[in-house]
Amino acid sequence: MTPATSHPADASLPEILSVTRLSPLLEPRLRAAFTVHDRVHESDAAAFAAVAPRIRGIAASGDSKVSAELIAQLPALEVISVMGVGYDGIAVEAAKARGITVTHTPDVLNDDVADLALALMLAAARQIPAADRHVRSGAWAEKGALPLARKMSGARVGIVGMGRIGQAIASRAAAFHMAIAYTARSAKPALPYRYLPSPAALAAESDFLVVITPGGAGTRHLIDAEVLAALGRSSPERGILVNVARGSVVDEAALITALEQGVIAGAGLDVFEDEPRVPERLRALPQVVLAPHIGSATTATRQAMADLAYGNLAAHFAGQPLLTPVPECR
Ligand code: NAP
Repeated sequence: MTPATSHPADASLPEILSVTRLSPLLEPRLRAAFTVHDRVHESDAAAFAAVAPRIRGIAASGDSKVSAELIAQLPALEVISVMGVGYDGIAVEAAKARGITVTHTPDVLNDDVADLALALMLAAARQIPAADRHVRSGAWAEKGALPLARKMSGARVGIVGMGRIGQAIASRAAAFHMAIAYTARSAKPALPYRYLPSPAALAAESDFLVVITPGGAGTRHLIDAEVLAALGRSSPERGILVNVARGSVVDEAALITALEQGVIAGAGLDVFEDEPRVPERLRALPQVVLAPHIGSATTATRQAMADLAYGNLAAHFAGQPLLTPVPECR
């Protein structure tokens, strides 16, 4: 990572700190409207100390960390715009206590994340990466057919988190004629799906358990050894875990043990506890499908997210209502 130093100062433009490698879909618009100090807090303590009193906004991404300590170093900070729906890395309470608003980019990424969840379910059930390797390596001609895979249509899916993206996953699962159940902090009587009060109770009745809650302290290791054991016992075929939420929501050590010991049949994972580091033991397991946190990574969706992230900053500095503040800041 080679953070750039600040944009040539234009005293008329508000100054913002970027705490992430900016998306090329966002960066030109930010640089046109603001003086952007690109990750200067990480690269150059003296330069950061010089500009910190003038920083009025932060541009962040879903995996960014904005700590209470960083916020305390920015006396003029007014707004933190996250390009992502998850904001578990942002010290929202510290921001709120100072009257600093946090914004994010909900809804525009629902389709892509839900599409990826279904793709990982199918890839893990039908062993698509192994099938691809089988053809590519010449093993098909040499060794013949692959072992039979498992059917996804008509199976039971349990969704942990029934918010915006959870509902988009459910509507796709319905097209696969799956039996849909979910858990969340509260039941949603308006939805036509069965509510179960805990991840363990849900796992016990699921062939696929799909995790799509926020990250952070409230959901840390929500999926633990007990939940995985329940998923494994749910049918003779044993269950498949899919995580498109945050790595922190799943106890990764417990997951690796469950996979190694055959407690569950497989997994599809887009997120990990210590990204971008993925444990070698996990990477060695053929029944696991791995993706490098690509839930929202299509051009169309990243453009929509960039537009919203920019729109929030632009609205703030124009004195207009914010487009999508996080719930805590509404
Ligand atoms: P959302 O609309 O806020 O929905 C979150 C759901 O999680 C809600 O149903 C909520 O329950 C539930 N929940 C929260 N805490 C829980 C707990 N302790 N136990 C059980 N359920 C809990 O959020 P969203 O827009 O669907 O996004 C969900 C998350 O997906 C984001 O926060 C982000 O971390 C992740 N994400 C990942 C990617 C990726 O690239 N893989 C992309 C986008 C988002 P209630 O409804 O009862 O409050």
